[in-house]
Amino acid sequence: MNELTEILNRKELSRNDIIYLLSLEDKASLDSLYKKAYETKVKYVEKKVFFRGIIEFSNICAKNCYYCGIRKDNKKVKRFMMTEAEILEGAKWAYQSGYGSLVLQAGERMDEHFVDLVEKILIDIKRISDNKLGITLSLGEQMPETYRRWFAAGAHRYLLRIETSNIELYRSLHPADHDFNFRFECIRQLRKIGYQVGTGVMIGLPGQTIEHLADDILFMKNNDVDMIGMGPFIPHKDTPLADSLGNFEEKKQSQLELGLKMIAVARLFLKDVNIAATTALQSLNRVGRELGLQAGANIIMPNITDTKYRDAYQLYDNKPCLDENSTICKQCLKNRIATLGETIGYNEWGDSPHFLEKNKC
Ligand code: SAH
Ligand code: SF4
Repeated sequence: MNELTEILNRKELSRNDIIYLLSLEDKASLDSLYKKAYETKVKYVEKKVFFRGIIEFSNICAKNCYYCGIRKDNKKVKRFMMTEAEILEGAKWAYQSGYGSLVLQAGERMDEHFVDLVEKILIDIKRISDNKLGITLSLGEQMPETYRRWFAAGAHRYLLRIETSNIELYRSLHPADHDFNFRFECIRQLRKIGYQVGTGVMIGLPGQTIEHLADDILFMKNNDVDMIGMGPFIPHKDTPLADSLGNFEEKKQSQLELGLKMIAVARLFLKDVNIAATTALQSLNRVGRELGLQAGANIIMPNITDTKYRDAYQLYDNKPCLDENSTICKQCLKNRIATLGETIGYNEWGDSPHFLEKNKC
């Protein structure tokens, strides 16, 4: 048996095994990795994709992450906040289209007006969907009391990427007042309150090594996450990291590949968690999300934001589907998933089996 086969057949991967797998480059080895990850996915989370319709409802952000296109100091962005009626319209569309759940994402704001508004929107979404639509929030760092209120109002999952589990690398990507430890503490609080917790990282960041990425996978396991949302870093032209990877055109393929390897290794190592094939993969390759599903992911987050706002919510350059409305996206995804031989879990929450197992009475 060669070394790769031996590693892929191990029950538990070590840190060195993870580093070995993330370093693979030749096509035959990568195919073996993806195949094994796919088998693991089928065994633990079925051959079924769940949709989370994502509404990116505001690009107003109080923070200044160096990588992000909607950071506060990017004065070129026209700021927007959708009205409650527009958000509810999107939620209604998701519900009627059989999307079992919704993700509400926005720039980070801790002010009282915003906290109250989100609480009200959550209550209203639950009401118009007869309590059936599952709601995931991705609204950054908040006070524990805010997380509690939003949980009580109906949100039951929360995505908060740690971005990188390496504190020095984190510091190189954020201004000094963006605190890694506070972000980490937020993840702990979310779990304590009862949310299904998702985290993740950006992949292929300037200064990031394969060892950092291996440690990110260990971080997710050690923190017992239920969901993973991670994707390749894609520079945005109006940010301090615009040129940090040199000529990005030349890097696209390797960024995509690294993203897929991370999904595959995360699937092998964490097994029964939900893993998203993120939009950043699709930005690098038209069928990037489908490649993600084939590498072990089982969640897709179709953008259902009103197209008139999409241009202003660009966290990175060349975000796809800026002008395709939700109905076109739904049809296009449905066809592509059918060609992969997978089904779509319509009208289901598609909770993380890992979370359900932990909370079994
Ligand atoms: N403000 C919230 C949610 C919106 S940002 C928060 O920060 O948690 C959602 C995610 O977009 C971030 O966690 C980050 O991982 C990702 N992101 C931002 N800029 C990016 C870039 N240039 N390339 C890839 N992902 C990026
Ligand atoms: Fe704001 Fe999130 Fe972008 Fe950071 S990553 S600038 S918190 S939207």
